[in-house]
Amino acid sequence: GGEYEGILRRQSQRESAARTYARSLPIVPVRARGLTIEGADGRRYLDCLSGAGTLALGHNHPVVLEAIRKVLDSGAPLHVLDLATPVKDAFTSELFATLPAELAADARIQFCGPAGTDAVEAALKLVRTATGRSGLLAFTGAYHGMTAGALDASGGATDVRVTRLPYPQQYRCPFGVGGERGAELAARWTENLLDDPKSGVTTPAGMIVEAVQGEGGVIPAPDDWMRRMRRVTADRSVPLIVDEVQTGVGRTGTFWAVEHSGVVPDVMVLSKAIGGSLPLAVIVYRSELDAWEPGAHAGTFRGNQLAMAAGTATLAYVRENRLAERAGTLGARILGRLQGLAAAHPCVGDVRGRGLMIGVELVDPDAAGPDDPVPPPAPALALAVQQECLARGLIVELGGRHSAVVRLLPPLTLTDEQATAVLDRFADALAAAER
Ligand code: PMP
Repeated sequence: GGEYEGILRRQSQRESAARTYARSLPIVPVRARGLTIEGADGRRYLDCLSGAGTLALGHNHPVVLEAIRKVLDSGAPLHVLDLATPVKDAFTSELFATLPAELAADARIQFCGPAGTDAVEAALKLVRTATGRSGLLAFTGAYHGMTAGALDASGGATDVRVTRLPYPQQYRCPFGVGGERGAELAARWTENLLDDPKSGVTTPAGMIVEAVQGEGGVIPAPDDWMRRMRRVTADRSVPLIVDEVQTGVGRTGTFWAVEHSGVVPDVMVLSKAIGGSLPLAVIVYRSELDAWEPGAHAGTFRGNQLAMAAGTATLAYVRENRLAERAGTLGARILGRLQGLAAAHPCVGDVRGRGLMIGVELVDPDAAGPDDPVPPPAPALALAVQQECLARGLIVELGGRHSAVVRLLPPLTLTDEQATAVLDRFADALAAAER
């Protein structure tokens, strides 16, 4: 007990409060396997945060551990800057085999590492170099990372080069209509802005988009809208960057989330699960965009050998075991049960998601005005639900603009029994938080 509390106390004194999730989840993980984390206090938790979607195979999957051990035992170098190695060759081949065929046929890869935000920076820099333009189209509620360029591409940005566009939302539709009509209006807004000479928006260097907004509150974009964004950019020779950092590697029910709409991006930003729990980030892009001179994008820590080995094992395991399909069917079942909860609890305003990327938006029905299409978000209740989940040994994260969305990102290896256990604990936590 004492040691555990000492660790928590020292970390909260020494580390910045900027890491809010670490404050609201006071656990000291010491062991983990699959869905389960064991804390230093001996308590066990079901981890539905999964490193914000990083752990496609859960914690310490045997194939991942074996792949890492194999590199360690082989005497291969752990660090060689960006040199060619068999480990890197295997990773690139496995990754390319998963890409949309049209992109894979003509793709370049740039190792960026170690984090998703580094790959976003690389993507923005690449399209600016390739087009000679500087403007960028990005979306409300987007999240692309915490370094300067990625932050500017995220929701609430202030960079003058970034034009903010409406992201279609069923719930809290920015046009107040929702559904297909809302998505149609969002698409038309973008088209009109680009076509109207008076808008002041010149042809940008690129558009960056998530097929399902994750940190923004788990908001899946309709497939038709994604295709419209592909068309509106292609027609104007604007590179389309799809950020699949969180949606990738089977999470949404297809290997990459763009497969739902059939959209082939010009640039894909990949991180999180591609490293099999270790830090790894890359961009893959149409070779035509490769305008970089030698030395234009270098760095010391990219192409981490252990991460690439763990990533190769993860990508292969997801492909061979059809875990994307599994995520789709299990996710639909989980959504069904959550919709049942929503029907019984007016404080659940919305339940949404794709595959095993699921969000539950908490609202305050009593605070809704007569003209409000939906009740206002309830961040305090969402925090209470998270804490009640924690008390029941379930780890979930919050998201969305108001932090009122409980996010479930379990590993794709989740069994039916584990899904039931997660949902039972969640239902109990919801009932307790509501009281
Ligand atoms: N893009 C998306 C869609 C993300 O969800 C995240 C992280 N949650 C990032 C980029 C940034 O990745 P990182 O935290 O590794 O910098």
